[in-house]
Amino acid sequence: MIDVRSFVLVVNCGSSSVKFGVFSGSGREPILSALAENLGQATSRLVVKENGEKTEMSLDGGSHDVALQKLLGILDDKDWLGSVVAVGHRIVHGGEQFCAATRIDGSVLHDINGLSRLAPLHNPANVLGVRTAMAALPSIPHVAVFDTAFHATMPPAAYAYAIPQDCYRNLGIRRYGFHGTSHRYVAMEAVSLLGLDPQDHGIVIAHLGNGASATAVRNGQSLDTSMGFTPLEGLVMGTRSGDIDPGALFHIAREDGLSIDELDTLLNRKSGLLGLSGLSNDCRTLESAAREGHEGAKLALDVFVHRLARYIGGLATSLDRLDAVVFTGGIGENSATMRKATIEHLKVLGLTLDEDANSQMFGGRCGVISTAASKPVAAVIATNEEWMIAHDTLSIVTSTEAA
Ligand code: ADP
Repeated sequence: MIDVRSFVLVVNCGSSSVKFGVFSGSGREPILSALAENLGQATSRLVVKENGEKTEMSLDGGSHDVALQKLLGILDDKDWLGSVVAVGHRIVHGGEQFCAATRIDGSVLHDINGLSRLAPLHNPANVLGVRTAMAALPSIPHVAVFDTAFHATMPPAAYAYAIPQDCYRNLGIRRYGFHGTSHRYVAMEAVSLLGLDPQDHGIVIAHLGNGASATAVRNGQSLDTSMGFTPLEGLVMGTRSGDIDPGALFHIAREDGLSIDELDTLLNRKSGLLGLSGLSNDCRTLESAAREGHEGAKLALDVFVHRLARYIGGLATSLDRLDAVVFTGGIGENSATMRKATIEHLKVLGLTLDEDANSQMFGGRCGVISTAASKPVAAVIATNEEWMIAHDTLSIVTSTEAA
């Protein structure tokens, strides 16, 4: 039986950093969160946040295991460790195999590791996080929550690339989509915020952060999304190009003699808002530079908005009806300017902005930003991927115990 004081530890492990969140029962905000950075380097450190206060401590060059041990020590000092009933792990790629959150055992971990061939930058770090946490907390359940899982409902027409299907059969080349945990959370919240019929609704969600993607959701299911085989496809992002004619890449490679790795760096790290503006990948910096007349910043924001509006319009064609367009992520939740520009671009869909309401929506506030006459509605919903992971984890553990 899980008692009232049930804590779930959420682990989001990258190659040199780990984010931790401790969630209590049904609380939507972590009671404690921590970020371990520069792991494996002399400067490795852990920053712990609790009740709005930050404490920073050195990890003395330690890596992921040292960070986790330090965190567990902190939980133990608070007498919380015994109440941690499960660990939820964010896993980037679940391939076609994992369509929902899954309790981790040896064979699941083996399969997640095998999916590293599809996500070489992410899954190995995620697997390291699972191994480290399972070694430290062997007697409680560990659950994998996949970024790709929400998009498992996409039909072949949306996920197949128009290339010889041997590439799909032999190499798994298809569109998988990412940010699924965020899109699922926002889709769920949109139903309650906007009073939609859970069994009969259509929305497009724009998750706009450093990474950005948009998803068409019908009756709670993803039908199409802008990211593809990797998170590089689709919208303009902080440093990622999003869509580009592959023919341009052949040309760049031939003319400038770029290697595959150099092309990878060009598109993943030097493009997007950064590449277009020549200034920054940060939307706030670009908004203020654009106001001061910086041409690169203006172009970057214009291309971002144009691409986003084009995607929202295109994704809507997967739905029977468009009830709402919902903005989330750092830019979507905070930038009235970018939301306004996008909605003005979407007049053709019948969207009209309530400027007052739009200007009030930032810093985690959720609500409608379109006029009463606007059909569809436009809204802002703050995402909460970590809570969604904690929630999925607790659901799996509870249902397993009940069975
Ligand atoms: P990540 O994908 O790394 O989680 P976030 O969701 O935190 O990223 O989003 C980061 C982006 O949000 C940055 O481009 C940042 O400039 C932008 N952002 C945050 N606050 C604002 C704001 N008030 N106005 C405009 N952009 C903002």
